[in-house]
Formats: sequence, structure tokens, C-alpha cells
Amino acid sequence: MHTNNNKHRFGTNLIHANTGIDGHFGAVNVPIYQVSTFNQEDETNNGRYDYSRSGNPTREALENTIAQLENGYAGFAFSSGMAAISSVLSIFESGDEILVSHDTYGGTYRVLTRLFSKFGIKTTFVDTTKVEKVEEAITKDTRAIYIESPSNPFLQVTDIKAVASLAKERNLLTIVDNTFLTPYLQQPIDLGVNIVIHSATKYISGHSDVIGGLVVVSDEKLAEEVKFVQNAFGAILGPQDCFLLLRGIKTLKVRLDQQLKTALQFAKWLEEQSLVSCVYYPGLESHPDHKLISEQANGYGAMISFQVQDEKVARHILQGVKLASIGVSLGAVESILTHPATMSHASIPKEVREEKGITDSLLRLSVGLEEFEDLKQDFDAVFQSLEEKALIK
Ligand SMILES: *Cc1c(COP(=O)(O)O)cnc(C)c1O
Repeated sequence: MHTNNNKHRFGTNLIHANTGIDGHFGAVNVPIYQVSTFNQEDETNNGRYDYSRSGNPTREALENTIAQLENGYAGFAFSSGMAAISSVLSIFESGDEILVSHDTYGGTYRVLTRLFSKFGIKTTFVDTTKVEKVEEAITKDTRAIYIESPSNPFLQVTDIKAVASLAKERNLLTIVDNTFLTPYLQQPIDLGVNIVIHSATKYISGHSDVIGGLVVVSDEKLAEEVKFVQNAFGAILGPQDCFLLLRGIKTLKVRLDQQLKTALQFAKWLEEQSLVSCVYYPGLESHPDHKLISEQANGYGAMISFQVQDEKVARHILQGVKLASIGVSLGAVESILTHPATMSHASIPKEVREEKGITDSLLRLSVGLEEFEDLKQDFDAVFQSLEEKALIK
């Protein structure tokens, strides 16, 4: 499983990662091993594979690939990002406490507060962007620090290296949800993190056609623990979807390079609009974490949140924009516009949500591969019609 042998630059490794799976007949892609069970030599000799919950060649190719891209020890593929997160959380025990970034993904908040809480796993939400707050929150029961950086929807940045080094001092694990930046832009294991999680549904797939999750761990002991849960709990990713993720990975860099460029242009344009009161994009110099993310990541991602006057204006934009789909997802070739309060963060109770600043007038845009000028014209037309309707004070 140990496949950390990257010899080339990232874009080349995307194409030529060592999958560990032989290409029969010279096939340049790993075939879809759509099979549940494998012939054994005899009743005691299982061979490399016996049953696809425990291991499947197409899945293993994906797992080896993501492990290399994240500079980790081993990778694991799950049936969704939430299955990946839940499987990682399953390595903990009743009585353990996890410190979690306070504006974490809605589904992560839900699974921690309504499912894992039933099994005695305690969650304390902390502002991980302030290392001293993390340090204050550590108790004798704390086992791990779970970070999302940049966070959702405000793109707040946590100093991953600082938190990971604090965690190491206190003998805690650091877990990072790296969905928003991908290994192309951020490699948490190199910053001292133990476990990296992806909703592969997003940038790794890139095409809005797979639900999947990936986990990469930094060492053998964690690999054994996660492997045990993957096989015991069984939330594995099917071979067809593994193939689609392997395919998506090959274009990760070219997609993101373009998306980053458009996102920065679009964020700058939004900043100039009188209708927009605040733009949250860490690539903007006005973003409070611009300097920190410039140091720890190789790019700012392609997620932009912005605040408009009120809910009515937000709804008009959602309904008026034509090029961006209205949807909860992100990271795809098509731009996707979300109303976090009623969509991505709807599973968070209203009081908690508003306390976090996720008001009804907040919008989030996942910038796709449409050309900047077209996206701009599309939004501009809606903004102008709003001004004509005199909805803007
Ligand atoms: C979407 C998402 C998840 C959950 O992933 P699914 O594939 O939808 O289960 C987790 N974390 C982040 C940051 C996400 O955007």
C-alpha cells in the first residue's frame, strides 16, 4: 500500500500515478472490475482479492492514486464524503471528544451532533482559525482536532501547521477536510496532519456525476484502523464510481487552473458591484486570511460567498441567473449557485446558523468552467433588472 514515490510535478503525477494495478492487454486506464467475488486458489488461500468489500482492483487503483497525490501512506474510497467522514469518526470511542471547526460542513455538523453523539462521542465546536482558542478547548477527553480550511461558506482559513503542531504536542490527531482545495492546492499531510478527507463528489470528480468520499492517512497504524472500519462498516465505493473518479483526477489541474483564474476575476468584479455588500474570497487582498492562505496553499480555490441586501434580492439572483445551476453541490465544470441558509446549511438549526452569520441574504458560488465574460454578463443582467425593479434601496 505504501506508494509514496512521486517523481514528477503534480500535473504529471495526476496522469501517471502508480495505481499498483497491472494494465492487462496494455490498457492505459484501469478497467472497471465490476465483480463482487474472486476465485480463490483453495479454501485457505485467498489471493490478493477475495471479496470486493475488502478489496477491489479498481478501488485500489483509486486509493493508491489519492494516497500519492496527498503524500500519504494509504488511501481509502467510500460511498460518499459523509461515509468517509463517518468512517473516520468510527475510529474513536465512547467518551472521546473531538474539537471541530465551528463553521464546518452542514452534514458533518449533523452527523456529529445527531448520530455520533448517540454513541458517546463528544463534539466541541471551536474557532480553529484562532490557535489559542483551540488550545483552551482541549480537555483530558480530547482525541482529535477536525479542521475545514478554507471553511464553508465564509472561506475562513485555519493555520493548519500551527494546529497540527499543537495537536502533536498534546498527542492528538489532526483531521482535515480538504474538499475545497484538493491535493493540487493544499497538501495537509505535509503540514503535519494525520488524516485527510475528501468529498470526492466535488472537485475530484469534477463533473457532477459521482457521489464519493476519499480518506488518506499518514501512517501504518491509522491505515490499519481505517481499513478495519472500511471493511467492517462497509461503506465502500463501487468500481464504476472509482473509475469515474480516476478519470476525473486526470483533469484536476487543468480544471482548477481555469476555475481559479475565473474565480479571482469574478470575485473582483463582485466587489465592485453596489448591490453586493461583502465578498468572501481568500484570493482577494481584502480577505482577512489572504496572507495565511497564500503561505499554506498553492491557490485560493474557486468558491466565492457574497452578501446582498436581503433575502428577496438573494432569491431574485438565484432565480434570474441562467448559467449557474441552483444546487447544493460544488466543484464541478458547471457553475453552481447556492443559498446556504435554505440549502447547504439547512440541517443547522436557524438560531445556530444565524449566530454563524449564515443569513438569508448570503449566496455562495462555485465557479465552473464557463468563460468569465459570460458569467459576468449573466449576473450583470440580473443585477440590472433588480435595480430597474427598484428592489435595491
Ligand atoms: C459535500 C461535502 C461533504 C459531504 O460529501 P458528500 O459526498 O456529499 O457525502 C463534506 N465536506 C465538504 C466540505 C463538502 O463540501
